[in-house]
Amino acid sequence: MHDAAFVNANLATMREGAPPIKDGIVAVTSNRISWVGPRGEWKDKARDEHDVRGGWITPGLIDCHTHLVYAGNRAHEFELRLKGATYEEIARAGGGILSTVRATRQATEDDLLLVSQKRLARWREEGATVIEVKSGYGLDRDTELRMLRAARRLSGLSVKTTFLGAHALPEEYKGRAEDYIDLVCDEVLPAAAKEKLVDAVDAFCERIAFTPEQTRRVFTKARALGLPVKLHADQLSDLGGGALAADHRALSADHLEHASEASISAMKKAGTVAVLLPGAFYFLREKQLPPIEALRRHGVPIALATDHNPGTSPLSSPLLVLNMACTLFRLTPEEALAGMTRNAARALGLQATHGTLEAGKQADLAVWDIGTPAELAYAVGANPCIKVSSSAFS
Ligand SMILES: [Zn+2]
Repeated sequence: MHDAAFVNANLATMREGAPPIKDGIVAVTSNRISWVGPRGEWKDKARDEHDVRGGWITPGLIDCHTHLVYAGNRAHEFELRLKGATYEEIARAGGGILSTVRATRQATEDDLLLVSQKRLARWREEGATVIEVKSGYGLDRDTELRMLRAARRLSGLSVKTTFLGAHALPEEYKGRAEDYIDLVCDEVLPAAAKEKLVDAVDAFCERIAFTPEQTRRVFTKARALGLPVKLHADQLSDLGGGALAADHRALSADHLEHASEASISAMKKAGTVAVLLPGAFYFLREKQLPPIEALRRHGVPIALATDHNPGTSPLSSPLLVLNMACTLFRLTPEEALAGMTRNAARALGLQATHGTLEAGKQADLAVWDIGTPAELAYAVGANPCIKVSSSAFS
């Protein structure tokens, strides 16, 4: 006897190569999927029955790259830029990422939890069941820990936390990047790991952030602590970030607009997922497309995420990510949906438990009022999600 069965449903299981199941059933028991298949093969019983009325069920969407926890916003800079101010002028006037750092340092853990929980509602409404949340607006020990504690307290979605102490150089370390990396490796990361606040470690490897050598130091420390790594790689220039990530068997390399063929080949060998972030590409009006064809040719799994953050991607809509990935990056709707389910799960190391509709996995389901799964990527600004079932509710 199963706890519940979703009947009269079409199923996009998102298992690699598996066709959709028309008129299918998904059964759930103790927060796990206990049966998936066509109605004709169903011989069991369930205590509760949910009639989906011909709608579609997909795995709950997974947003594998966000900076959801921060204080304040940067709408004022958005206005200034539209009046002609350059990024440098804004930064010199105290704006940019460091303005978010100042606001976040002044916020209490409860303040951060309150604003972030409010932001998170949008993901729930649009069928998401898992979200990754990075630190990186504290850039000091106490604030980084506070951000991660606030992220751990978020409810309604399963949350994976990523330590991003090497996000930017804080003002008080200007000209002393090596000293700051010492602080990250010797003090902040170990403290966060000791408090069990860290599921993965990320860094921003870029000319305007940290060098490949500094990134390597952070990754070496992460691995010594037994933590998997991810990387903001090759967004603005090719520093070989994709290859560096692959070298450290990273779960994912993210952005990748300028990634070389050599990096992509190394990522394939290492099993590193490519996470593409069309929201940042759109908001920054970037021109350099990520190397989609090369990723396809090498068979690197492509995941998608909002990259929600106050500066370069104030995007709170997983569904809009699907549309942007198709319109801006020319992904197919099927690739886009795989990017926020199966491949996003891999980018978080959750492929054994999340990302597809399969017996034994977590019962994270989204039910949609659509005629075909492609409609999820096709519609702009619509939200056909009618129900979410998530193991995070238990
Ligand atoms: Zn990011």
